[in-house]
Amino acid sequence: MKYKVYVIIGITTILLCLKAKAQEFNDLFFDQTIRMNYIIAGNNSKAEIFLSQYISEGIWAGKRTSMEECIESGSFKMELKDSLSGKTIYAYSFGSLFDEWQLTLEAKQYKKAFREAVRFPCPKKSAIIEIFQKDTLEKYHKLCSINFSKDLAIENKNLFHSEDILINGSVDKKIDIAILAEGYKDNEVNKFKDDAKKLTQKFFKYEPFKSYQDRFNVRMVLSTSPLDFKYNTFSIDRYLTSENYWAICDKAASVPWDFVVVLNNNTKYGGSGIFNFYCCIVTQIMESEEMLIHEFGHLFAALADEYELDYQAKTKSTKMQQNCIMRSLDTKVFCPQCKNTIKKFIKYYTE
Ligand SMILES: [Zn+2]
Repeated sequence: MKYKVYVIIGITTILLCLKAKAQEFNDLFFDQTIRMNYIIAGNNSKAEIFLSQYISEGIWAGKRTSMEECIESGSFKMELKDSLSGKTIYAYSFGSLFDEWQLTLEAKQYKKAFREAVRFPCPKKSAIIEIFQKDTLEKYHKLCSINFSKDLAIENKNLFHSEDILINGSVDKKIDIAILAEGYKDNEVNKFKDDAKKLTQKFFKYEPFKSYQDRFNVRMVLSTSPLDFKYNTFSIDRYLTSENYWAICDKAASVPWDFVVVLNNNTKYGGSGIFNFYCCIVTQIMESEEMLIHEFGHLFAALADEYELDYQAKTKSTKMQQNCIMRSLDTKVFCPQCKNTIKKFIKYYTE
């Protein structure tokens, strides 16, 4: 259900950022997550980033080794650099709703602003945040370079109750998923809990998640405050997204998290999944389980849709993987290529 497909199906080129000498996490960082909220604005050909504010979230839930390496599958990349040495101390790649909007007709007609954010472990020394976007030739171009100081961050005090669904180990060694509620009423918290638990159980019946279940933690945030998800994004009826990424991150910050999954209490078919951003599925339809797997594929491993027309256009091939849930929700498996990509990401985060 991803609107924009950068990656040629199944043959995602995976590039590793230049590997600097690995340094100890504790030498470089506090055990704390910083989120930089920013506005990204522009049109189809130009993007600009405006700093809004730094939010100090909880402990750092991401990886703590080889942190300067990233898998460059997203149209964006952020790098955190030590101010003094200029060395990259943390990097990751991600997708964005603004980036998808840039391909619409609207983006040819006017400029628009989106609320987006990057998250990183709090550096001990002064550091520079750089954000890059890929051009049509898949080359990253720098959009901004901003000095960061810990003193600028404000604490996120608005924490919600949460409950663990699956805990396999400490946050630094596991992939931490936060499940959020959207469209549930205040008296439907138990319904949300049931949905979250049932879907988690179903999620781990699918390979390769089944074989690697012990590398994941799953928690749910028990808040029903709205996240502004809407259908018909970019005039695609079933494309269900929110432009309020800050609210999503604010809610998720009640638990340590690497990936955020939004359960939308709705009966109308729809969903979305953007690499290292968020995914959203509706819970009150027959296909919610398959949709979760499909959208999580976008979120976690930058898997592209394998819809027939897209695929043929991109690869000029009529031979395609028939059995992949990225192609059709009727198919209850990932194709071997998608499985391998997911495994690569699981290992990247946990080894
Ligand atoms: Zn596939």
